[in-house]
Amino acid sequence: MYIVMVSPEIAPVAKVGGLADVVFGLSRELEIRGNSVEIILPKYDCMWYDQIYDLQVVYEGLWVPYYNTWIHCTVFFGFVHGRKCFFIDSHSDKNFFSRGVFYGHGDDNERFAFFCRAALEFMYKAGKNPDIIHCHDWQTALVPVLLYEIYQHIGMSHPRVIFTLHNLKHQGIAGEYALREVGLDDYKLINNERLQDDHNPHAVNLMKGGIVYSNFVTTVSPQYAWDVRTSDQGFGMGHTLHVHQSKFGGILNGVDYEVWNPEIDPHIPVKYGPANIDDKYKNKEALRHRLLLRQELKPIICAIGRLDHQKGVHLIRHALYYALQNGWQFILLGSSPDKAVNDEFLHIKNQLNDNPDCHLEIGYNDELSHLMYAGSDMLLIPSLFEPCGLTQMIAMKYGTIPIVRGTGGLSNTVYDANYSDRPFNERNGYVFHGTDYGSLEDAMHRATGLWYSYPADFRQLITNAMGYDWSWNWPGKHYLDIYEFIRNK
Ligand code: ADP
Repeated sequence: MYIVMVSPEIAPVAKVGGLADVVFGLSRELEIRGNSVEIILPKYDCMWYDQIYDLQVVYEGLWVPYYNTWIHCTVFFGFVHGRKCFFIDSHSDKNFFSRGVFYGHGDDNERFAFFCRAALEFMYKAGKNPDIIHCHDWQTALVPVLLYEIYQHIGMSHPRVIFTLHNLKHQGIAGEYALREVGLDDYKLINNERLQDDHNPHAVNLMKGGIVYSNFVTTVSPQYAWDVRTSDQGFGMGHTLHVHQSKFGGILNGVDYEVWNPEIDPHIPVKYGPANIDDKYKNKEALRHRLLLRQELKPIICAIGRLDHQKGVHLIRHALYYALQNGWQFILLGSSPDKAVNDEFLHIKNQLNDNPDCHLEIGYNDELSHLMYAGSDMLLIPSLFEPCGLTQMIAMKYGTIPIVRGTGGLSNTVYDANYSDRPFNERNGYVFHGTDYGSLEDAMHRATGLWYSYPADFRQLITNAMGYDWSWNWPGKHYLDIYEFIRNK
């Protein structure tokens, strides 16, 4: 099958969160299974260009319709660790993709609406006729709308579209200009069955358009697929998803074990696997050495991720102080687009600078994250909501026990050591449900209690966790089944 992914991110060159890992890992798995996969992305100025191999211009004069005029674009091609990527560069005084950051500008809706039109115009002009166009998140939601409103009428009748929702919190709520900008008829499309936002009749909801117009819609875990239809986690999209439920489902994300695997990981000093778990503790030693933590018989609890409200920032902060109060070690790697949150954690970092049981790294550091997964005993993920979550699955591969709040993909992957209804050899972590400090403290106590008092049982938990296969093998197959299904409809 010939598949084109249209995405705002790909790991590791343009990565803000898990979406980037998913696009890379899924594309790789689909290729391994014999499909041809190409990925279309914006050409941001802030990408990690040193990781793009053989970047070169492949389409010079791409003129993309924009209001009543045209914007000149150039398309580049390059390999990102083997993946075939096209990057669209726009030459307009608006500098759509040269802003020094991926997101966070007042005109993000406009920037990505333009990207959708440019991606389709490129496919059309370059004669690309994929079987499947796979779009990711609100930034690419206008692709199916444009395909079915414009491009199928001028010859692109072959492709079918699948749209994956990675996070319902961000939907792309825009004014009607976002449609007019890309040549769509706002009078026709702004109505309740199509792109009108369910809560603001004057606004366009781009994600809703993607859902309505796609041939199939997925989200990134079965539990989240349920949560977004039935609770406030849908951020107002519940009704639309309910109407379209016959073409909606949840597929758990996978983890790329070429990248996340302690047996081959180049970023950790001592490689290990289920057969030599003891070598994990050499990495613990190295981690402590690097972060200037004291070498003592204490568990290391770590937290890695965006410091977004979604991730339960108040619980992370509490866990840090609670761990120190109880004589455990706590390390954190994360950053927030919100300056106030960053400043707060930087302040805590300064306060605790000389504490030998604690280290906070405020920023993004992929290489350090590998050592933290390998050297820690437990990984804390107290998310208020979590579409899938990759960190708990990565942690398990490294024999690091997840302590999670039971929501979304976390409840599909973590089975509590004490309370799960699964047999002990299938339990792999700790789950709490409340968003209060008490629930969190209880789970932390249960985990550290086992670590201190029943090391053999804790070791068994590690073995269980490492035994899970969270690779792209099954998810890749599921996506292919859906591709086949919509091709044959
Ligand atoms: P989300 O997509 O909500 O950010 P996920 O758990 O799905 O969360 O994916 C997070 C990914 O980003 C993981 O690969 C994690 O290791 C990585 N990550 C998050 N924050 C950082 C950071 N500060 N430094 C390095 N890697 C990070």
